Amino acid sequence: MTGIRTTCAYCGVGCGILATPTGARTATIAGDPDHPANRGRLCSKGTHLGETIGLDQRLLTPMIGRRRASWDKALDLVAKRFRDTIAQHGPNSVAFYVSGQLLTEDYYVANKLMKGFIGSANIDTNSRLCMSSAVAGHVRAFGEDIVPARYEDLDAADLIVLVGSNTAWCHPIVYQRIQAARAARGTTLVVIDPRRTETADEADLHLAIRPGTDVALMHGLLAWARAAGVVDDAFLAAHVATPAGFWDGFEEGSDLWSTARTCDVAPDDLRRFFDLFAATPRTVTIFSQGVNQSLAGTDQVNAILNVHLATGRIGKPGAAPFSITGQPNAMGGREVGGLATTLAAHMDFAPDNVARVGRFWAAPNMATRPGLKAIDLFRELGHGRIKALWVMATNPAVSMPDAGGVREALARCPFVVVSDVIADTDTSVHAHVRLPAAAWGEKDGTVTNSDRTISRQRAFLPLPGDARPDWWIVTQVARRMGWKTAFAYDRPAEIWREHCRLSAYENDGSRLFALPGHAAGGNAAYDAMQPFRWGGTPFADGRFPTPDGRARLVPVTQKPLVAPLAEWPMTLNTGRYRDQWHSMTRTGLSPRLARHREEPLVEVHPDDAARLALQDGGLARVATAQGDSLFRVAVVATQRAGELFTPIHWTDRTATGGRTGLLPRPLADPISGQPGFKSTPARIAPV
Ligand code: SF4
Repeated sequence: MTGIRTTCAYCGVGCGILATPTGARTATIAGDPDHPANRGRLCSKGTHLGETIGLDQRLLTPMIGRRRASWDKALDLVAKRFRDTIAQHGPNSVAFYVSGQLLTEDYYVANKLMKGFIGSANIDTNSRLCMSSAVAGHVRAFGEDIVPARYEDLDAADLIVLVGSNTAWCHPIVYQRIQAARAARGTTLVVIDPRRTETADEADLHLAIRPGTDVALMHGLLAWARAAGVVDDAFLAAHVATPAGFWDGFEEGSDLWSTARTCDVAPDDLRRFFDLFAATPRTVTIFSQGVNQSLAGTDQVNAILNVHLATGRIGKPGAAPFSITGQPNAMGGREVGGLATTLAAHMDFAPDNVARVGRFWAAPNMATRPGLKAIDLFRELGHGRIKALWVMATNPAVSMPDAGGVREALARCPFVVVSDVIADTDTSVHAHVRLPAAAWGEKDGTVTNSDRTISRQRAFLPLPGDARPDWWIVTQVARRMGWKTAFAYDRPAEIWREHCRLSAYENDGSRLFALPGHAAGGNAAYDAMQPFRWGGTPFADGRFPTPDGRARLVPVTQKPLVAPLAEWPMTLNTGRYRDQWHSMTRTGLSPRLARHREEPLVEVHPDDAARLALQDGGLARVATAQGDSLFRVAVVATQRAGELFTPIHWTDRTATGGRTGLLPRPLADPISGQPGFKSTPARIAPV
């Protein structure tokens, strides 16, 4: 096979791609047979990437207001406004909102600039919306944000449990791998999801649980496992710290019948799942946004981790809890510390970490405490306390909950910078300065996928117009703010090596994230980098990155279920379509992808449709306390009664209705700060 080896632009599966340019802005795209994530396969989105690399809608020159500007002028202005704002109002008056679409090198310099030089931790990422509950859950249980699974575990599992994950649509190549394991070795598939999705349709067992009852379900499972003698007392004694009282009264309210009632599933189905789990040591539990995007997301994650730790189903082939990420580089962002709640290289804001990273960076203004998480960041923007904001490679005016409120906050902010590939987005209309970023296929760097495999993204197209890579743009601003030496990078390989050195700096082995070998390679080694997974098989030796080497069982309790409100009697759930991605700035360019679902639909159960006089194919208005939008109705029995589902992708640029982002509440899990997109009180009426 020929072609330039790179990685897909879209999801966290991280498929390898061979891209072969066929003209100035055209290329053929094929799956890379040698990439361990996909072994040559691609889903529909990856396959049609070639339709999305033209220059339609691109931002190709820096813009100040509606006027074109030179790079020098635009960068000088950005640096001056940030410098002046910091001088007048302090470092916490500015913020960056970045993205899991950034490459690791982009992320690294943005994080370094904000946390080491500006002196604030007000850099958060749209990955907050995607998997921050998994991060918080991992840290609570393992001591560090380690995903203790790899794709090979799917090949070795006898039971795969998917919780809150429409894997067939959202991680299609992982799903194909699951299907291959089922065909090859009879692996059983259980899906836990309130909706009967395409994934659930093909499962051996589907539990359509009441939304928000995941903790009760996992609690019931653990009680059942304990009664069945499946709790691994030897593993617990040797490797897991069990808080005093953890097991006291554990079975109370967690018997089969009570759990079935709470979760609103048939007791026979529940017993079948519990028996399957108890009988199958090689079990992988995959969880995704259905678990994470909840007001109790972190507890739901820990409920899953508790089950795996207590039964010793971790650190062995085919036995692991497995958080699969949404974006291509959500994991790389976690590794550099691109969340407001982490510092760098899997370190938190403990004083010795702050001192260590400060020494490494020779940083003049180290942030000493976490910054604003996404929802708080935009709330502070609306209150006028953030006075300069830089948005990189993301579209919060569509994707944040209460997107209408986010727009108002952006409109009020004295200085907004947007670096993006696309000229006009729902966010960039509020920008005072727009900076043209290099797109997928035009820039070099690394990404980390869901199973910790680090791969190169490589350029196979020339930079169009004045577009520049994000790392270059950040570096130029940092130099203009006065930090020339610390940001004297000329190419991404230099940033990569510094990132690797930091991961190993004063690391006595207590931090699992470490890339020491890669700090030494030269530019040629970077150019020739092959995909590799860091961290081996975490926890295979039973040691966890906590001070005592033990994992933690975390006590969690099911939150009381709240009865629907009279004014908002329905519950709105949101999610993806198979062939669209985020706010459609790339997938919207592909005619073939548009054929799958041409417009946004609100899915409604037939009983609700009959009760509310909603016609299949008719129009309806979905309203919440935050806003409302028009959708075409799909009456489907796959939806639970009382619940609605709408897709997240459509924007003002692409439709007059279907504006899901206007609807969710700006409320978050109190531990992780991840918004609860899956359960907004709502109502629906025909129009
Ligand atoms: Fe790209 Fe994800 Fe599809 Fe793989 S599964 S081709 S990474 S969108």
